[in-house]
Amino acid sequence: MTGITDLCHPETVRVAAAHQAEAEKIAAELAAIAATGMVLPGSITKRRTRCGRRNCGCHADPPRLHGPYWQWTRKIAAKTICRWLSADQHRDYTPWIDNDRRLHELLARLETLGAAAFDADPRRERQANRPASRTGTEVSR
Ligand SMILES: [Zn+2]
Repeated sequence: MTGITDLCHPETVRVAAAHQAEAEKIAAELAAIAATGMVLPGSITKRRTRCGRRNCGCHADPPRLHGPYWQWTRKIAAKTICRWLSADQHRDYTPWIDNDRRLHELLARLETLGAAAFDADPRRERQANRPASRTGTEVSR
């Protein structure tokens, strides 16, 4: 495979061998993570808190704060949702969060490969189809 697009048959866009090899590696890792089912969005943060009792050590100088406590935070429809986790849950779900992060990295890598392929497409240099004036933005999927 040469990676060069046949200009007469643009529907047969092919990817370069190196591109294909990397895509297959990414697909294998994506599938391996997905198959575990252990994927959790958001992040887990450590919190140390002060209570309301004035004479508690958490108000001393230096303060001896309560905790650590663990909080899972994620966004749903632009709203931040938090849940407290036990130490066990923190230990058990941290790899799930890491898996989710890795899935996003792998998808971003695939998108980068796609964008690089688009940039390498020789038709990119042909400007005949460029509209003479901008009349608006159209999104096609
Ligand atoms: Zn306290």
